[in-house]
Amino acid sequence: PASSRVTVVGSGNWGSVAAKLIASNTLKLHSFHDEVRMWVFEEILPSGEKLSQLINQTNENVKYLPGIKLGKNVVADPDLENAVRDATMLVFVTPHQFVEGICKRLVGKIRTDAEAISLIKGMEVKREGPCMISSLISQHLGISCCVLMGANIANEIAVEKFSEATVGYRKDKQTAEKWVQLFNTSYFMVSAVQDVEGVELCGTLKNIVAIAAGFVDGLEMGNNTKAAIMRIGLREMKTFSKLLFPSVKDSTFFESCGVADLITTCLGGRNRRCAEAFARNGGKRSFDELEAEMLQGQKLQGVSTAKEVYEVLRHRGWLELFPLFSTVHEICIGRLPPTAIVEYSEHTPKFS
Ligand code: NAD
Ligand code: 13P
Repeated sequence: PASSRVTVVGSGNWGSVAAKLIASNTLKLHSFHDEVRMWVFEEILPSGEKLSQLINQTNENVKYLPGIKLGKNVVADPDLENAVRDATMLVFVTPHQFVEGICKRLVGKIRTDAEAISLIKGMEVKREGPCMISSLISQHLGISCCVLMGANIANEIAVEKFSEATVGYRKDKQTAEKWVQLFNTSYFMVSAVQDVEGVELCGTLKNIVAIAAGFVDGLEMGNNTKAAIMRIGLREMKTFSKLLFPSVKDSTFFESCGVADLITTCLGGRNRRCAEAFARNGGKRSFDELEAEMLQGQKLQGVSTAKEVYEVLRHRGWLELFPLFSTVHEICIGRLPPTAIVEYSEHTPKFS
């Protein structure tokens, strides 16, 4: 009998594609109820219509994923409490800056036997130190939280082009297998690794490297320079992850969530695109302005992640160990010019 009910918390570009993937599977898998609820942060569109109503009428997210049918069993719901009430499987997929507010609203509103997964790339920095988004969800809601990250540009998966993804789990392999089952399709190949922090840090930190790659593109420095920046960035990703969590495994960096996501984001992501425009304008137009103009409501994660990581580095006295991460932040806030990305990042520490 169907025992699992899925709610997707979030309905942006990736959130909508995640709902589509899941909905195609709940129709086929008997252990899941067909219906997939999708919480929509309500917006009134220029036409005066409500986004959630339009999604239910057209079966498309007309603002964040136009032209793609989500599947008739996806139901958009602007009422957060109602959307999660019966869910046993909660999929969190919003820009990371909104998660804490959402979690606070969900305390006491979800089933006690619910399980969560986070598709969110980012971290929070508290006075006590950095907090990964999956931990934030676990701590606020008292439930376990896996992660799913990978080389997953949403618009490509929306049209069913092949890609891979990685589920990261802490202890419970059976739960991880259930998440794999829920997401895996013929064009979306998911595997699981027991390294939740490694997987989540890969997804989070690569967004900083993508900003650096975008600067290189904007400065027209060519492919070799970009590859060098990606290599240095990957090394900083690994060093930072292991300093924060010594349990992080080297092998995780070779999964889809690691090197593959780094490559696709540095080639085709939103962070790269906005950073390219930033460098072309010599840093004279802010990222906020470029994000609003170029992404039509979608959100960048790399600029805020660079700031959050910078705070951790400064607080722990690690700035000199991470010239690329720290230079990205200093360029984003206008303290250094975009050209500093190569001048500074190449002065890497002598050990790694
Ligand atoms: P997005 O960038 O399309 O973000 C816009 C979403 O934020 C919309 O649903 C909007 O309604 C919502 N929003 C705006 N203000 C809000 C508020 N105050 N409170 C709550 N929600 C609000 O979102 P996305 O692409 O689905 O990204 C979500 C996460 O998935 C991010 O961490 C991102 O890094 C990650 N991700 C994205 C992609 C991709 O290709 N888009 C791929 C993999 C992972
Ligand atoms: P951007 O947010 O830079 O588009 O990256 C998307 C992504 O995470 C691909 O896996």
